Amino acid sequence: MTRLPTDPAANLAALIQCPSVTPDDAGALDALSAMLAPLDFVCDRPVFSEPGTPDIDNLYARRSGNGPHLMFAGHTDVVPPGDPDAWTHDPFGASVSGGAMYGRGAVDMKGGIACFVAALARVVESGRPVPGSVSLLITGDEEGPAINGSVKLLKWAAEKGESWDACLLGEPTNPDAIGDMIKIGRRGSLSGTIIVEGTQGHVAYPHLADNPVRSIVALCAALKATPLDAGTDDFQPSNLEVTTIDTANPAVNVIPARASASFNVRFNDSWTEETLKAEIMARLARGAASGRDDRPPARFGVDWKEPVSQVFLTRNEALTGALAASVTAVTGRDPVLSTSGGTSDARFIKDYCPVVEFGLVGKTMHMVDEHVALADLETLTAIYADFIIRWFAGKAGR
Ligand SMILES: [Zn+2]
Repeated sequence: MTRLPTDPAANLAALIQCPSVTPDDAGALDALSAMLAPLDFVCDRPVFSEPGTPDIDNLYARRSGNGPHLMFAGHTDVVPPGDPDAWTHDPFGASVSGGAMYGRGAVDMKGGIACFVAALARVVESGRPVPGSVSLLITGDEEGPAINGSVKLLKWAAEKGESWDACLLGEPTNPDAIGDMIKIGRRGSLSGTIIVEGTQGHVAYPHLADNPVRSIVALCAALKATPLDAGTDDFQPSNLEVTTIDTANPAVNVIPARASASFNVRFNDSWTEETLKAEIMARLARGAASGRDDRPPARFGVDWKEPVSQVFLTRNEALTGALAASVTAVTGRDPVLSTSGGTSDARFIKDYCPVVEFGLVGKTMHMVDEHVALADLETLTAIYADFIIRWFAGKAGR
């Protein structure tokens, strides 16, 4: 019998040794497919393209069984290592030192994939039946443009007739130690650029011009005049940040004709895209009218960046409850169910099935000397194995 991939460290080393910096696959998905073959997965490798973006390799692997369908989602691409000489170990060497494995992607998120494969292999090896289907949806385009990745892969699989009852996304979610935090939702993200049209003129004759810099400052101040909200039961307060103010004006003696400013809002579930855009436009209109003396309000427009990342919250006790119970069973700790942080591919998956996120400790992700404690790999593997058994048992009991 072929040996099953029960060792998360061996699985992870094989993945780290493929330098799969987005958009290169560098053999990472082949290495993963090779691990999955003895577990009776059927692997598909769709490549997606879009003009102006690099082609991306993706993997959809399914192990079919009778019963509900659990998806594990993740990515094998990694961010660049930066200056390799700044690392104490080869960023693609997977060397072990002081009880930790070093390499780009160790925690974000080849480590999560390695642990999930090991967890399933241990369940299978133990002889316990897995009463349903398990699939892995793995993209090579999470850290890049994210155009030829999860969005297209989900659509492609759904069009083949695939459907899922739940998804576990293995991104690093724990701030300090395994068991700290499960993510059950994410804030939305909305970006835009404000453009103010003024009238160009000589700086010594401002009454003959209309300085758009004054107006853009007033508009930005109006955006931040009062908090957007005070937070909700499940989310922290929404926040708007102005990120650029530009006039592209090289001269100190010329009042420019136009000015622009960009902003981003991370918003909670007290808003929808529509209500938030309306609130922003109302605030800008107030800003455009302020400090104008006898002049009419400043002329402005907003370019909204598409697509907008929608806010979501997973209310699925069978999923979040099982995962939290597995974390507690293995670590003795009570994980916080959180919606903090940036966006993730969960925002795409939530359109197909309930999704939660739980993975390794994120401390060193994207940093020089990214590494994972071997003990953490064992802990996460134990949690995932417990979760696989617990989730299927819960579905069967319903
Ligand atoms: Zn990641």
